Amino acid sequence: MPARQVWQAMNNNGFFYKMILQGRLNGKQKYRMKRLLDMMYSPKELANEIGISTDMIYRGYIPLGCPHERNNLNYILINGKQFLEWYEHAYKKIHLGKDETFCLTCKKGVKIVNQKQMQNKDLVYLLSACPICGRKLTKIIASKGRGSR
Ligand SMILES: [Zn+2]
Repeated sequence: MPARQVWQAMNNNGFFYKMILQGRLNGKQKYRMKRLLDMMYSPKELANEIGISTDMIYRGYIPLGCPHERNNLNYILINGKQFLEWYEHAYKKIHLGKDETFCLTCKKGVKIVNQKQMQNKDLVYLLSACPICGRKLTKIIASKGRGSR
């Protein structure tokens, strides 16, 4: 169910695709995520526990279907165990090799072929075509963070 929302969101808007790829945790962050408790965390607490930005939670994970609640002050709260389960489910299908990108039509990782490197402002990405269905695909290879002014 959350994964389905992920796919819908990704299909509806390339922004979410970008976010889900950027939201993939590295080994250290995954290790920290696995220590989350069965209790409610604020986005800030969750971000601190895992070592990610609160922005990723608000603009990435929650729109992508991360289970959350709002308290009576309308603040978002996220259960640590539910987050862990959601994350592993949502990201399980997105195992990509270095030479692969994700095809939304085929719903799986496919080889990058005939790639062209493109740049859009601070974003560097590879443009390729799915070897199975021909869909145009992008893979972000570099993205400069904000606040570099
Ligand atoms: Zn395809």
